[in-house]
Amino acid sequence: MSNLFGKFKSEINKGVGVVSAKSKGLIEITKINSQINGLQAQKKSAFEDLGSALYNMHSENNMDMEKIHSMCKELSLIVASIEEKKEQIKKIQEEEQEAISKLKPQACECGEVIKEDAMFCSKCGKKIEAEE
Ligand SMILES: [Zn+2]
Repeated sequence: MSNLFGKFKSEINKGVGVVSAKSKGLIEITKINSQINGLQAQKKSAFEDLGSALYNMHSENNMDMEKIHSMCKELSLIVASIEEKKEQIKKIQEEEQEAISKLKPQACECGEVIKEDAMFCSKCGKKIEAEE
């Protein structure tokens, strides 16, 4: 029990780690978001290309299904990449939450859950402090 709490106390010391975990995740998410923006632009122009190709084919009364097929395939690849990037962001956020929850002490010796940034246990009043 005392070993366990000793571990918790030393982990409080890593409070600064929460900030760095958050900013590290944010940098990564910002990067992926800009990639998503690029892909959204690609998707938009691919849709426009497909639309105008369809219109031209229709006007000329010559539907080239193979061309439509390959354009749609290209489009679905872009859509899939966007979904993939969104999943990456979700994963980073989950990993970030996990990292933060590991950094934070979960409970006091008395069993009370320690609130974020608490200096003292709200139940038994034990001081929550980091060990050097
Ligand atoms: Zn307590």
